[in-house]
Amino acid sequence: MAHDTHRPMDYPGNLIVVAAPSGAGKSSLVKALQELDAHIHPSISHTTRAPRGQEKHGREYFFASESEFDAMVQAQAFVEWAHVHGKRYGTSKKAIEERIAQGSDVILEIDFQGALQIRQAFANAVLVFILPPGWDELRSRLERRGEDSAEVIEMRLKNAAIEMAHVSKFDFVIINELFERALFDLKAVVHAQRLKYAAQRRARADTFESLHIS
Ligand code: GDP
Ligand code: ADP
Ligand code: 5GP
Repeated sequence: MAHDTHRPMDYPGNLIVVAAPSGAGKSSLVKALQELDAHIHPSISHTTRAPRGQEKHGREYFFASESEFDAMVQAQAFVEWAHVHGKRYGTSKKAIEERIAQGSDVILEIDFQGALQIRQAFANAVLVFILPPGWDELRSRLERRGEDSAEVIEMRLKNAAIEMAHVSKFDFVIINELFERALFDLKAVVHAQRLKYAAQRRARADTFESLHIS
């Protein structure tokens, strides 16, 4: 998709983009981070896949029909969208722009294709890739989660190899072996993002002024 690129100073909030193969622990880590940090808001994606057991429209995802999704693509309502595991997923402009314009940080759990599109559109997005500690553990996490059929698990494992081949394009890599360690690492990335010059210049404008620096 073609985009205007927003410069680092265009929005006061940060965009934290987290990608991982299915089962690596992305959703668990992002959920735990949000419980610890009230200043991070999730971006709720649209998807054409069906809701799983406890999922609620507007909470985990906005569930859309193929034609509703098409209409949003036509209307240029997405900042990014991609085909993932045979379905379409996308981040609407509405899901992120208002929040970052207000200065909130927004976290996106999206696939690698979407992550790379976000980087094109938002110069200050930080891209984090979560890796599982190994293939056997990835498979057993998908099985233990118990949300997907055997065929879907096989497809997700096959896609995992394709997704992980793009890890070098990301800014940070977190290996989710010990959950608490991985959560600590993710918190560190968010914290570092808030210490960037542009963010500090804005958040601590009075200090910069009193020091007579621009
Ligand atoms: P999970 O992999 O088990 O977390 O399963 P999900 O159904 O929640 O996510 C399916 C895929 O869609 C994952 O690779 C997500 O990263 C990706 N995804 C979720 N939201 C978005 C989005 O807004 N945009 C894009 N491009 N991908 C997304
Ligand atoms: P994703 O969102 O990447 O698909 P989930 O967050 O749903 O992954 O995690 C997949 C499964 O693995 C879940 O059952 C979760 O509880 C479990 N899990 C996540 N992180 C770890 C970890 N560090 N050690 C063991 N199990 C984990
Ligand atoms: P699930 O179907 O298990 O909820 O998600 C499967 C994959 O789709 C995950 O890897 C998730 O990150 C990705 N995904 C979810 N929402 C989006 C989105 O809006 N855009 C993109 N590109 N990928 C998404």
